[in-house]
Amino acid sequence: MDLRLKKISRTRYTWHNATNNMITNPLHFFYPENEKDIQAIVAEAESQGLRVRAVGSGHSFSEAAKGKDFLLDMKSMRNAFRYEASLIKASFQTQNYVVADAGITIRRLNRILDKMKLALQNMGAVDFQTVSGALMTGTHGTGIKQPAFPDMVRAIRIVATGGELIQIEPTEGITDPIAHAQNADIKLIQDDDIFYSNVLSFGGMGIVYQLILEVAPWFWIQEKRYLQNWTALKQELKDGRFMQKVEENDFVAFRVNPHKIDGDHLCSIVVQNILQPTPALGFWAEGKRNVIAGIVSNMEFLIEGLIRTINRNPRKIKKRIQLSLKYSRVKNYMDKSFKVLYQHGAAVLRYGISSEFAFDAKAGKVIDVLETIFEQTKYLSEYADLYHSAHIPVRFVMPSKAYLSSAYQRPTVYIDVPTLFTSIGDYEILERYQTMLMKLDGIPHWGKMNQMMYLDHPFIQSHFPKVQSWIKVRNQMDPKGTFLNDFIVKMGLNE
Ligand SMILES: Cc1cc2nc3c(=O)[nH]c(=O)nc-3n(C[C@H](O)[C@H](O)[C@H](O)COP(=O)(O)OP(=O)(O)OC[C@H]3O[C@@H](n4cnc5c(N)ncnc54)[C@H](O)[C@@H]3O)c2cc1C
Repeated sequence: MDLRLKKISRTRYTWHNATNNMITNPLHFFYPENEKDIQAIVAEAESQGLRVRAVGSGHSFSEAAKGKDFLLDMKSMRNAFRYEASLIKASFQTQNYVVADAGITIRRLNRILDKMKLALQNMGAVDFQTVSGALMTGTHGTGIKQPAFPDMVRAIRIVATGGELIQIEPTEGITDPIAHAQNADIKLIQDDDIFYSNVLSFGGMGIVYQLILEVAPWFWIQEKRYLQNWTALKQELKDGRFMQKVEENDFVAFRVNPHKIDGDHLCSIVVQNILQPTPALGFWAEGKRNVIAGIVSNMEFLIEGLIRTINRNPRKIKKRIQLSLKYSRVKNYMDKSFKVLYQHGAAVLRYGISSEFAFDAKAGKVIDVLETIFEQTKYLSEYADLYHSAHIPVRFVMPSKAYLSSAYQRPTVYIDVPTLFTSIGDYEILERYQTMLMKLDGIPHWGKMNQMMYLDHPFIQSHFPKVQSWIKVRNQMDPKGTFLNDFIVKMGLNE
C-alpha cells in the first residue's frame, strides 16, 4: 500500500452505525479527500482481490453499509456548487442543478443551498444522512407529488471498477455530450437501464463521489397539525376525503398510536403547503412547534430514561406515546422548507430503529395494514407483555423511476414501524411485523430493518419488476465483485 493510502487510512478501527446494531472491523478504514484517493483505493482493493464499500452517516439499520475489507468514510468530501451551465443541454437550462460531493450531509447541503437561494425539493424526516447514503437506500419524505432522493438526482459520478470515473445519466440526460467531451477524464454514460439501476444500488456498482441534483428556488412551507381519533380518520379514508387531502396538499402525513386508549387510537395529522407567493426577503419564521416536544426529541438522556422506565414497567409506553402525539399539535408554523420538513430531534438517532413498508397508496390498504398492526400490538402486549414502543408514521410518496425503489412506478404509502432500540423485544417485534406485513405486500425499506427478506428471495423477485435489469447492470459494472457486500449477496441480488 502506498504512502498516500497509508496516510488516509487506519487499521484496527471499529465502525458501527448510529444505533450500534451494525458493527464491523474492516481491514482498512479510509478517509478519502477526493476522487483520486478513491481511484487509488479501488485499484489497491482490486490488486488484493478485496471489496470496497463507502459509508455515509451510518443511519441505516440494515446491513446495507456493512463491509469487511475496505471501508470509506466520505465525510471529507462535503462541498456543493452549481453545475456549470455550459455543460447543460439547452432544453434543461431553465432548471437549477447543483453538484454535491458524496459525503455532504443533507443538513450542510440545505445550508449551502439556502445561501444560493435554492432548496431541496423534498427530504426525509431528518437531515443527518449524507446525500449519497440517502440516495443509495431510496430515502423518502412525504408528499404524493413530491420526489424521494433517487428522483431528485439527475446524474451520479462514480469511481467504478478499474478506478474509472463515470458520470451516469438517463438516456435523455441533462448533460450535453459534446460540451462534456472537454471533460475527458470522466466517461459520460447516458442510458436509462444503467442510470435507474445505479441511482439506488447500496454502493454495489461503484463508489459515488459526486451527484447532480435538480433543486428548486428556495421556498417556505406552512405547517398545521391536528389530532383526530382513528375511527374518524378511518371514515375519511373510506369516503375518499382523506386521500383527496393527500392529493390536494403538498405534504400530508400522519402518526398513530398503535395502542388503544379510551376506546380508540389517537392520530396526529400534519398538512404542509408551499407558501405562494414566496415571502419577500426579510420574512422570518412565524409560529412554532411545541417547545417541550422539541426538547424531549433532542435530549438523549430523556429517551434513555424512558427506555429504562418502560423496560421495568412496559405498560407506561401506551400513555407516553399518547402524550407525544398530543404535544405534536401545531396551529400554524411557517418557515423555510428544510426547517419545516425536518421532523425529529437528535435523540432519535441512537434510539429510534424501525422497519418500514411500502404499499400501493390506496385508502383500503392503509386501513388493512394499520388494523393488522393494531391487532398485533394488542396481541403481543396481552399475550407476551411485549409493548410496541413508538407511534406509527404514515407517509405518501410519488412514483419513482429507480429500478429498486419500493415506490417503483406507483404512488406509494410508506408505513413505518419504529421501536425504541434496547427496549425489550425491539428486534423481535420488528421481525414479526416484517413477516406479517410482507404477506400484505409491504415492501421493506432497504435502509431499515429488513432481514426477513434474506429468507424470501422470491418476494424480492416478484415485488421489484426491474430487479433482473438491476442485477444485469450490476454484474456488468462489477465483474470482479469489488463493490459487493454481504447485504447484496444475502438479498440474492448478485445472481
Ligand atoms: C433517525 C432516522 C430517521 C430516518 N428517517 C428516514 C426518512 O424519513 N425516510 C427514509 O426513507 N429513511 C429514513 N431513514 C433511513 C436513512 O435515511 C437511510 O438508511 C439512509 O440510507 C442513511 O444514510 P447514511 O448517510 O447514514 O448512509 P449509510 O447508512 O451509512 O449508508 C447507506 C448505503 O449507502 C451506501 N453509500 C453511502 N455513501 C456512499 C457512496 N459515496 N458511494 C456508494 N455508496 C454509498 C452505503 O454503502 C450503504 O449501502 C432514517 C434513519 C434514521 C436513523
